[in-house]
Amino acid sequence: MSEHAGDPSNYIRKRESRAEHGQTRDLSYPPLPPSLVVPCYDNHTHLEIADGNDPLDYLQQLDMASSVGIRGVVQVGGDLETSRWSAEMAAREPRMLAAVAIHPNEAPAYAAAGTLDAAIAEIDELAARPRVRAIGETGLDYFRTGEEGRPAQHHSFEAHIAIANKHDLAMQIHDREAHDDVIETLLRVGAPERTVFHCFSGDAAMARICADNGWYLSFAGNITFKNASNLREALEVIPRDRILVETDAPFLTPLPHRGRPNSPYLIPVTLRFMAEHLGTDVAMLAAQVSSNTELVYGSWDAEPVANGGASPWDEAIDPSELA
Ligand SMILES: [Zn+2]
Repeated sequence: MSEHAGDPSNYIRKRESRAEHGQTRDLSYPPLPPSLVVPCYDNHTHLEIADGNDPLDYLQQLDMASSVGIRGVVQVGGDLETSRWSAEMAAREPRMLAAVAIHPNEAPAYAAAGTLDAAIAEIDELAARPRVRAIGETGLDYFRTGEEGRPAQHHSFEAHIAIANKHDLAMQIHDREAHDDVIETLLRVGAPERTVFHCFSGDAAMARICADNGWYLSFAGNITFKNASNLREALEVIPRDRILVETDAPFLTPLPHRGRPNSPYLIPVTLRFMAEHLGTDVAMLAAQVSSNTELVYGSWDAEPVANGGASPWDEAIDPSELA
């Protein structure tokens, strides 16, 4: 572990919830799974959020991920502060690419403050930064945001689609209980060429619609949950060249570690589950998903990182600089 172990400057948020589904969570990180033989990626994670009794910072998490065959992650922002952090860290850290956006559940608050368009304009600026390869997470969420917040969500989603198209970036969709409207918006406004349903939550019928449009489905740890037969059925029908995998860490930890802090080093647990469900070899699936991931986001080592050769953690980052 580095001397910065647990250094709070290496994360900028702390997960609040101590309980999940009315039960007290186990706040210890799960053990390292056996390493993948063929490396893979985590295409959606939030390393800015610390979790657990003894939080791991982004660098510890990336080191642990490297040790089990995870080559890189897409670090995803959801508001201005976390999008700036994502862009900044990806520019310094070779194992990280960034996605930037105003999350659909954040858009109504920006709108109420009269700052949504200014925030979207800054996302447009961040989109031009090196190693920012996706706009996300953006989309619609009718579960956590009520009727009154929908105009802001729709306005923000359409603006984010335009930004992804303008910069020829991939897009990561957050869709919670809004499948029909998300699909309608994508078809009407014009989906970016590389469109990813992050933490896909639909069923086999929706997976077929996504496949017909060339969209990608990213599966998270909840595909292992007992009640998630819709996700397993979607996995069965989607062409293999449209499958991605993610943690959405620190959330959605796969079985048998459900409820404990999640981290990119747990990708092998979800990937092995998916391979077993498909009746295929985990190395074959890892190779396919790796190739899909690089087609969507590009190569992790295509661009030099910002401070040319110097260790990205030589100087601790003052989060207030980024705010
Ligand atoms: Zn997320």
